[in-house]
Amino acid sequence: MKLLMILALSFWGAVAASCAGEPDPRPMAEDPVCLVNRDLGCLRVRVDEDTPRATYKGKTYYFCTRMCKAEFERDPEKYVGHETGK
Ligand SMILES: [Zn+2]
Repeated sequence: MKLLMILALSFWGAVAASCAGEPDPRPMAEDPVCLVNRDLGCLRVRVDEDTPRATYKGKTYYFCTRMCKAEFERDPEKYVGHETGK
C-alpha cells in the first residue's frame, strides 16, 4: 500500500514537472493592460531587467510589451485597481 502511494506521488510529480517546463527563477507579475483587455494569453509576465514597466502612484506595473506600457501610460486610471489579488 505504501509503495502504491509513492508511485502515485512520483507520477503526479512527473506530470507537474512536465507542465511547468523549464525552471525559471524570475518572479511573475500581471500585465494590467492585458488583464483589463482580457488578453489572458500574455497576462502573466516574467519580471527581469528588460521587462517594460511603469510606476504609477508609487506602484510599479509590468507589461508584456512596450505597446501595453504605452497604452497604460496614456490612461493609467483605466488599468489600476483591477489586480486579481494573486
Ligand atoms: Zn500586455
